[in-house]
Amino acid sequence: MWQAEPATLHGVGLTRTYGTGSGAVAAVRGVDVAVREGEALGVVGPSGSGKSTLLSLLLGVERPDRGEVLFDGVPLIGRRQIRRARQAVQYIPQDPASSLDPRRSVERQLREPLRRFRIPGDHLRLVRDALAQVGLGADHLGRRAHELSGGQAQRVAIARALVTRPRILLADEAVSGLDLPLRNQVLDLLEDQHVRGGLGLLFISHDLTAVRSLCGRALVLDHGQVVEEGPTDRLLETPRHPTTQELVDAVPRLSA
Ligand code: ADP
Ligand code: MG
Repeated sequence: MWQAEPATLHGVGLTRTYGTGSGAVAAVRGVDVAVREGEALGVVGPSGSGKSTLLSLLLGVERPDRGEVLFDGVPLIGRRQIRRARQAVQYIPQDPASSLDPRRSVERQLREPLRRFRIPGDHLRLVRDALAQVGLGADHLGRRAHELSGGQAQRVAIARALVTRPRILLADEAVSGLDLPLRNQVLDLLEDQHVRGGLGLLFISHDLTAVRSLCGRALVLDHGQVVEEGPTDRLLETPRHPTTQELVDAVPRLSA
């Protein structure tokens, strides 16, 4: 049987500086990263280390000063290439629940990416399927954000990322600030999409235990650079870089 190549999002030598002169901040400096369908890669690092900037570069929302992003080997330059990649590469923003539009129903918000990326097919069915994937019934279609619990809103935001049936999902601190049961629900949901659906994951978090539960490999960012990279178990058990050590030391405090 003919098999499509796994979708791959590749960042090569990515560099992004904000501001100029003495106020310049090198948010991301010379980062190489590859996310493939069927694989789960963690990105960890302290606050301000460049995690969200790296995600914006990979999405094509920000342009790198140097380096390039390739989707399936094709540079992510120009509207057409970015649109093509965005059908296959979706993301869950930091604080997803607050990214929902309070005035619009769940159905309208889930239909929106289908329309924007001109996805063929029965949109209502795709919307219902995406809701079902996050454990929400069709009775949520007409609700607005204030009619949802925090956990339901979080799931709707994830359903919105899944509705276009992406092959790669970039998640920015998707479980930060969630209470433990909800955190575990979201992790289970992502793991299910990854393991059963083959969804490629780039999972950004400062929570190493969450990263370990999902990702076999991770890279550690500090001041915009990759300071360490390897199997997640190894990073947690024998961290080599002081930044990794600090993240490991923070684990009991975070889960307490
Ligand atoms: P993280 O997600 O790891 O917390 P960010 O990528 O958000 O880190 O930020 C990396 C660095 O870049 C920080 O010093 C931050 O202040 C700076 N930065 C991020 N976005 C901007 C921006 N739009 N303008 C100016 N500085 C920014
Ligand atoms: Mg961030």
